[in-house]
Amino acid sequence: MSKIKVGIVGYGTIGKRVADAVLLQEDMELVGVTAHSYNYRMLAAMARNIPLYEAPEVEDISKLKIAGNFPDFLSRVDIVVDCTPKKEGALMKEKYYAPLKKKAIFQGGEKSKTVDVSFCAQANYDSAVGKDYVRVVSCNTTGLCRTLHAIKQRYGIAAVHATMIRRGADPWDIRHGPINAIVPELQLPSHHGPDVQTVLPDVNIFTSALSVSTTLMHVHSITVDCKEIPSVEEALKLFENTTRIRVVDNASMVRSTAEVMEFAKDLGRDTRGDMPEIIIWKEGVGVTGNKLLYMQAIHQESDVVCENIDAIRAAMGFKDGKKSIEMTNKALGIDYCKSCIQ
Ligand code: NAD
Repeated sequence: MSKIKVGIVGYGTIGKRVADAVLLQEDMELVGVTAHSYNYRMLAAMARNIPLYEAPEVEDISKLKIAGNFPDFLSRVDIVVDCTPKKEGALMKEKYYAPLKKKAIFQGGEKSKTVDVSFCAQANYDSAVGKDYVRVVSCNTTGLCRTLHAIKQRYGIAAVHATMIRRGADPWDIRHGPINAIVPELQLPSHHGPDVQTVLPDVNIFTSALSVSTTLMHVHSITVDCKEIPSVEEALKLFENTTRIRVVDNASMVRSTAEVMEFAKDLGRDTRGDMPEIIIWKEGVGVTGNKLLYMQAIHQESDVVCENIDAIRAAMGFKDGKKSIEMTNKALGIDYCKSCIQ
């Protein structure tokens, strides 16, 4: 079978990781990535022989070796993964992808109305099969969908209340913050709750959010009113047995997001020391009555990467979601050494 020809538009935090993930898939070929400006990411891509194509509106890229212009790029790919900054993807769709009927995967910064379906592989893979425009929901929404979907399947969900403690900026980002404040999002619900409902429409969820001075991860504090009464032991088993969720414990000294990220590096996977699994602290899971409480951490730069790979397969018509998840996990080392906590 011929490989799926994939092109990445927007080679930033997410785009460069999706490009690397595509390179690791046996059924995909990376045609190239777009060059939008001259920067170290482009130099690294060039050094690794990843073909660079001119983005539609570019700053000075005369120092880069360019394989072709944007129409060349679009003519060579079966599907685009658009990883441009938020709201840019919708413009790119209107101007370039839709007129050529080119399939595209978008990121969480785009509105759900831009696409045919919002996506989290383990929750709704089937609904994206054969679709032209699929949106991988944001890092926070992906984390919420993974754990809530598992809980919903096992116990049923009456209501969810969740607070997102968000990282102020990505580690490389020198422009955003805060650097010395806790900033509440003064809009209720925060956008995360409605965003979860684009994937899990029947989950009654209310969210709030605040930003803090860290770059490493987001942390969520979640309370789920279950329809069936849960137990701590069983809920932990459920999380442990669900793909792309990793239970860690305080006893092994994974007590913070800093230690989670160090643990990620120590696992020695081939993916930048990323932690694509959603982290749940064993000691942070509790039950009172029908309420299940837990805390989870999200590595914002990487949890959506595997979702993009599954979204590519789904959009290209690969019907077996379970198999796609298995293939992606194997290629990216996801769930690797998951049961090393005793
Ligand atoms: P980023 O700023 O790191 O990267 C965006 C890249 O796109 C930059 O390299 C920029 O030069 C390039 N670009 C801008 N306009 C372009 C255009 N018209 N054509 C081609 N390239 C263009 O952004 P990011 O953090 O990777 O975010 C991308 C998307 O992923 C957004 O929708 C965002 O909401 C979503 N997302 C981000 C994170 C995160 O934590 N960074 C997590 C999940 C989802």
